[in-house]
Formats: sequence, C-alpha cells, structure tokens
Amino acid sequence: MFVFKFGGASVKSAEAVKNIVEILQRYDSEEIVVVVSAMGKTTNALEKIIECYAGENRECFRQKFEALKLSHMEVVGGLFPDQDHKVYSDVENLFDELDARLTKDPTLNYDYDYDQLICFGELLSTTIISHFLNVSNVPTRWMDIRKSLKTDNRWREARVDWELSSQLVNEHFKFNGERILITQGFLGATINDQSTSLGREGSDYTAAILAYMLKTESVTIWKDVPGVLNADPKYFDDTILLEKLSYLDAIELAYFGTSVIHPKTIKPLQNKNINLHVKSFVNPDAPGTLVGNLTYNKLTPSFIFKMDQVLLRISPLDFSFINENNLEEIFGILNQYGMRINLMQNSAISFKMIVNNDRRRLRLVVDALEEKYKVVYQTGLELVTIRYFDQSTIDRVMINKELIMEQRGVQNIELVIKDIG
Ligand code: ASP
Ligand code: MG
Repeated sequence: MFVFKFGGASVKSAEAVKNIVEILQRYDSEEIVVVVSAMGKTTNALEKIIECYAGENRECFRQKFEALKLSHMEVVGGLFPDQDHKVYSDVENLFDELDARLTKDPTLNYDYDYDQLICFGELLSTTIISHFLNVSNVPTRWMDIRKSLKTDNRWREARVDWELSSQLVNEHFKFNGERILITQGFLGATINDQSTSLGREGSDYTAAILAYMLKTESVTIWKDVPGVLNADPKYFDDTILLEKLSYLDAIELAYFGTSVIHPKTIKPLQNKNINLHVKSFVNPDAPGTLVGNLTYNKLTPSFIFKMDQVLLRISPLDFSFINENNLEEIFGILNQYGMRINLMQNSAISFKMIVNNDRRRLRLVVDALEEKYKVVYQTGLELVTIRYFDQSTIDRVMINKELIMEQRGVQNIELVIKDIG
C-alpha cells in the first residue's frame, strides 16, 4: 500500500486533474491512499472570505464566494461533459453548505469559525477528483478524513489524538475492491465532529500520519518541482537536485525552511522507517528525491533563504546582565503572541533574536517587552542557513552583503545579512 499526496498546484485545473489520473493509472496494480489539498489557491481565497465574514462585510464575502464557486464549476465543466453527472449536485451541495454557514453570524471565536469554513477547499477538491477517477475507470472511494483523524480543539493548529485516530484510520481505510481511497489533507475533527485544521500547508503531514498509522510501504509527494533542490531557484540559477536525503538531513532542511517538505512530515515516517519520495507530477518518470534511512558520502551544501527578517536586541533597562528570569519572561511574551524565533544569541547584557517581519505580532511583542526592557530593532535583513557549509559557500552568499550576525555549528551555519549600499 502507498500513500500519494497531491498539493494545490497539481489539482488547480481540469488539465491538472487529468494529469493526476494519468499518474494513478500507471500504478494499476497498487492500492493507494490519495491525500489531496484544496485546488490551486483555494485556501488563500477561503481565508479572504473568512476575513470578510468575521468583519461582517457581506458584500465582500459574497463576491469572493461567487468567484470561488465559478472557478470550481469551471474545473467541473472541463472534466464532466455530462451535465447530469452526480458531481454537479455534490459540488452544488457543498457550496450550499458553505453558503448556509456564511449566512449565520460569526461566533466570537475567529479561529473556530476559520476551521468550520476552511475545510470546504479540501472537501470540494476531493469530491471532484474522486468522481473523475471513477469515470476514468479507476475504482475510487471518497473518505471524509474527519471521521478518522481526531484532534484536540486547538483550532487552526490542532494536535492529533494518535491512539484514537490510529484505531479509526485502520477501521475505515480498508480497500473493498477499490484501488484508490481518496481523502482530504490538512483537516481533522474533534470527537464532537467539529472540523479542525492542522496548520497551513498541512497536507504533507496528513500523508505522513496516514502512512504511519497504516504502516504503508512509502509516501510520495507529487510536486511541480523535480524533487528537493539544494536551494530555491528563486535565489540561485544553478540548483542541484538532492537525489537522496537521510531523515535527519530532511528534517534539518525542512526545519530551517525548505518549502518543499512540511517540517512535521518526516518524524512519523522515520519512526516507522517509511520511505518518502518527492517527485514531479510534470515528469513522473524522473526519480525525484528519496528520503529514508540512507547514508551517503557526498554532502551537497544546501542553502535556505528567509527574507524580510527582523533583528530584535533586548536588554534590561537597568543595565544588569541578562539572566534566566529575563529569558523566561522574554520567551513567555513570545509564546503568548505566537512569535517564532528563527535564530537567537545572548551576550552578557543583551539577548538577540531574528524573527519574521509579521507586523501585527511584532508590534504586540515589542510593546510588551518595552515595559521592562530596552528594545532595538533592525528590519530588512535576510537569514541564510547553509547546511554542509564551507568557506566557498559562505563567500557565495556574502557577495554584496554585510554580515550582521552569525552562528556556526558543525554542519550548519546561519548568516544574518543585509544588502550593502
Ligand atoms: N490547502 C492547505 C493550504 O494551502 C493545505 C495544504 O495545501 O497543504 O495550506
Ligand atoms: Mg495548498
């Protein structure tokens, strides 16, 4: 048994859906659990709808709702010439349900409302693809992941109840003559059946969870890139495909921000020694990247760029030294406002950290810190992590840059840099 995961880009149009079906037809002797994200930029569009809804701006969310419906109906139209096919009423029903939810007043809990609405993206995409697989003679069953993947009620960042979910997943994900069981990434539900979500870009994680619980042979994430590259092609012309990655290397790269694999994905797979393939849906014959229990001699340097970073330098108002109590207080404030630290360093009289330039959070954090500390901050920085660095890789990154801060480990170096000029 395999798990395949298809992201938003691989299901963004009728053509893209046809391509998925072709890929699945290649594996005609396999049983496959297929995990799918919302189509294209649907989750972003739903987030905008939710914002308008929470602000009770009816006109704004109505208009966006109609646009979302239109784009889905276009895909359905491109796949099903038979206007009487059941997919039309199924999709219509989902939009009616979404509509009904939007007609109710928002509750006072934004994150709860978010989860009750955001789930429609994946419910729609899987419904459409499931029907299309069946008309393409690939026997498929649609599964509502919310009946199997149970979580707590930490809305938008729900944590999985592993024991209960494992039991339910193994009960429900049984092949009865179908070749494909298709389900939603990113979603879960509480034991009271209220929808939850696992955090943005969480579908990879869903694929890993299901693979872990079902003890499958492997997971394949199908992407619009050839595999995991050693740098983002946005920043480097000559990137190298990493054909093999150990679990540890994959975790490190994902943790520091390689966008190809979601950071939570690797751990469950490593625990059960399940291989992960990252392959191109444009070029399915190419081998892509294999992540597993692997060793290799050649350590290709990888570069991870985080743009628009901010350096905060925090020091006690009375010029005293930074101590454990200060650190506890500082971390408490960061935790309270959900601010993630990308890099930190402390010296006798100050604590320095690099964070994303999330203006709303930054304002709240700085205001809270300033009650007790002097806070100086610098914007417009880049954070570059190089795994398996050497001097030549550092030189490459430092061209026309000024070094603001650096942290060196055995395998990784992190450079906080700024454009010169
Ligand atoms: N559709 C969700 C998102 O865009 C989950 C995913 O794509 O993995 O965040
Ligand atoms: Mg997505």
